[in-house]
Amino acid sequence: MARIVMKFGGTSVADLDRIRNVASRVKREVEAGNEVAVVVSAMAGVTNQLVKWCQDLSPLHDAREYDVVVATGEQVTIGLLAIALQTMGIDARSWQGWQVPIVTDGAHGKARVESIDGSLLVERMRQGQVPVIAGFQGVEKERNRITTLGRGGSDLSAVAIAAAVRADRCDIYTDVDGIYTTDPRIVPRARKLDRISYEEMLELASVGAKVLQTRSVELAMKQRVRVQVLSSFEDKPGSLVVDEDEIVEQPIVSGIAYSRDDAKLTLRRVPDRPGIAAAVFGAMAKANVNVDMIVQNLGADGTTDMTFTVGKADLARAQAALDEAKGELGFETVVADPDVAKISVVGVGMRSHAGVANTMFKALAEKGINIQVISTSEIKVSVLVGAEYTELAVRALHSAYGLDGPAA
Ligand code: ADP
Ligand code: ASP
Ligand code: MG
Repeated sequence: MARIVMKFGGTSVADLDRIRNVASRVKREVEAGNEVAVVVSAMAGVTNQLVKWCQDLSPLHDAREYDVVVATGEQVTIGLLAIALQTMGIDARSWQGWQVPIVTDGAHGKARVESIDGSLLVERMRQGQVPVIAGFQGVEKERNRITTLGRGGSDLSAVAIAAAVRADRCDIYTDVDGIYTTDPRIVPRARKLDRISYEEMLELASVGAKVLQTRSVELAMKQRVRVQVLSSFEDKPGSLVVDEDEIVEQPIVSGIAYSRDDAKLTLRRVPDRPGIAAAVFGAMAKANVNVDMIVQNLGADGTTDMTFTVGKADLARAQAALDEAKGELGFETVVADPDVAKISVVGVGMRSHAGVANTMFKALAEKGINIQVISTSEIKVSVLVGAEYTELAVRALHSAYGLDGPAA
């Protein structure tokens, strides 16, 4: 007997037939004698619609009310799945985030999990009941309000619950049958990885491979949760996220990721003096905007241009904060460009091999793709390019690093 957390994403619960399919999978695990807790996302497309409604009413909407709206998608699917399970003779009960409770901080829209009391869930599982828990949702205690964990946050809910109930496994069921060398929807010759290290998955997720949400991988690594990604639709072995030393042969580059979720901001003619970067990024931090890539040119006439990227969802807030601080910062203009994509190559082998970045720059040059910004870390190189080059760049790099599998 094992204790398992099973998580199903939006496409896996997109309609009633799919919810029935999820229920049969859960039933199978229960009938095999396992203790099971289930975490579900909202039906495919629902969260996007809810986010859009908030955006359309006001791009600078109140984050507390945004959470009230976007957390509703998961309430529907937990109730429906509980009904589907009961109809199949399985004892099941729905749980919203606040009922568990999943306690978070007050950073609405991207709250961090602070604690989960798993004792009630464990008690129910021991009695043979299946808790069906809303992903994505939490509650902050100071004002007792609903929070959400950031887009894709149901993965984090699942891992955090797996840690809290000390599950033997956290199975993430989705619309692909595992973790690939890159998004298989863009590169049909992408190869499935039987295993990937926490470090590499974390890096891939953080630069856009949305198959697992970044913070879910971070938490799994910290809490040693055994995460497996597998298909909701096919019975096939999936991909395991494991420690680096459990992988026998490490390729130099193990994956390529892309993100269209960033926007580029350029401040023209910023005074070139000490403290200016602190002032610019201080203003961003105050507005709760995360900054990713940064470049600053060498100043010529006492001024300089400064370019950086922020999440597209934060663009309006970033621009408002810059406008407000314009007098203090003294720049001439700010130019926003949302039509960019960040392409990244990731691999632990980069620690010991030179030339990885150069292979990337050459492959992009051969396709005539201009690089706007570059950033690197120990196991990653990222470049910012025009959004229209996303697919071309990912395919070119996938081939350049020898990752292509046999033609489909
Ligand atoms: P869910 O709704 O189940 O959470 P997501 O859409 O969040 O599913 O994540 C699954 C998607 O992630 C896949 O459909 C695929 O297009 C995308 N993806 C991006 N990079 C990868 C990768 N390296 N391996 C597998 N899937 C990937
Ligand atoms: N429904 C939420 C989203 O679309 C959470 C999730 O699917 O993981 O972001
Ligand atoms: Mg997801």
